[in-house]
Amino acid sequence: MMLAIPQCNPFLNYQAHKTDIDSALRLVLDKGNYILGENVEAFEKEFAAYVGVGHAVGVGNGTDAITIALLSTGIGKGDEVITVSHTATATVAAIELAGATAVLVDIDPATFTMDASEFKSAITSATRAVLPVHLYGRVAPVNEIVSIAREYGLVVIEDCAQAHGAAMRGKRTGSFGDIGAFSFYPTKNLGALGDAGMIVTDNAHYAERARLLRQYGWQTRYISEIPGRNSRLDEIQASIVRVKLRSLDADNKCRRTIAQTYDGVLAPLGCAPANAPAEESHVYHQYVIQVDNRDSVRDRLMKKGIATAIHYPVPVHLQPAYRRLRCAGPLKATERAAQRIISLPMFPEMRMEEALLVAESVNTVVKDRGCKAG
Ligand SMILES: *Cc1c(COP(=O)(O)O)cnc(C)c1O
Repeated sequence: MMLAIPQCNPFLNYQAHKTDIDSALRLVLDKGNYILGENVEAFEKEFAAYVGVGHAVGVGNGTDAITIALLSTGIGKGDEVITVSHTATATVAAIELAGATAVLVDIDPATFTMDASEFKSAITSATRAVLPVHLYGRVAPVNEIVSIAREYGLVVIEDCAQAHGAAMRGKRTGSFGDIGAFSFYPTKNLGALGDAGMIVTDNAHYAERARLLRQYGWQTRYISEIPGRNSRLDEIQASIVRVKLRSLDADNKCRRTIAQTYDGVLAPLGCAPANAPAEESHVYHQYVIQVDNRDSVRDRLMKKGIATAIHYPVPVHLQPAYRRLRCAGPLKATERAAQRIISLPMFPEMRMEEALLVAESVNTVVKDRGCKAG
């Protein structure tokens, strides 16, 4: 059966910007310079200005952005980096790719982001950095995290892969810590049509190091100043995200409107996500509800033609590759969330009647199933 409403749809976002993207692509193809060229440079400037930082460095993807951000600040082997288990595996993989050791802490069950007091209790003499994740488009408690980090002399690296444009009192994610990492994977709020990523920082030294690290440690061609890697951003992807950056705020506004529509029907049921405070601009990368019998709710929605997803079904510390990691405490909120969460359809091109259909369908199914929500 054809699904009436997908969980996300990057193709519709391409179609919405097709004329501009196609002409930008044509220019790149005809110009003949395909990697780290004028579009990458222009996009770095535009994105740094958007985030509100002095420097941006384009890289190959979001995972590399985190790894290179860590390495730029001098973090590596033997250093502990505190992050959450309730995140994309990429967050933890990136820490290990930098040679550092991830230590996992629990989330605040209301916001799905790092519990700042759990972070504080997890600090040891080996801790060098904290890596909060702005999951689902919500701003993690960065002000608390930054002030604890300052007290202990720790570096703050923000994982902004799900929070392009999210802000607290007008200050955007990526500008709170020492350095931030973005992914432009096609399904993100700002998505390329392939892989792409970005490092943002106000620290000129970190930016310079990131520039060297992304291309073999080269300052001058063929001469490596430090051991580096290849994680370059290409002109085609940069030209695409440049076009889409112009509509990011409008796209995020559409996501908020869909979220409000969902809230209107689902908040009375008790399964809607907690509201963000007025000073926070939530960008709803995902709209995540919680119910008791999650699998049967998803099946029933699927039968009604509504696709859903789970971000993420198994917390990182319970995955075979990462069971060896140290957790600070039992991660109860993380494990409970992983069993109860459902990501509803969320993409800026969704029509109002589709959003209402999703909300009404969830309402019916959750009531039928007698799910205990909240
Ligand atoms: C998508 C994502 C990443 C990784 O980005 P890639 O571009 O896929 O490497 C890292 N962290 C989070 C929270 C993400 O959602």
